[in-house]
Amino acid sequence: MIFGLVGNKCKVCGEKIEKGKVIARHGKKFCSDKHVEEYRQELIDKEKSVKKRGGCCG
Ligand SMILES: [Zn+2]
Repeated sequence: MIFGLVGNKCKVCGEKIEKGKVIARHGKKFCSDKHVEEYRQELIDKEKSVKKRGGCCG
């Protein structure tokens, strides 16, 4: 469990992130602002598709 704390992997590309270069957003870790933006866009797209369906339990 010693390495549990240093397992910094980018949520988008899965690359290992150098210590000190980790960008934490949305409770996830990213290697670059570009991938933060990519993940954010993904979240927005997901939200949109859910809303489009209207939801089943509203
Ligand atoms: Zn990345």
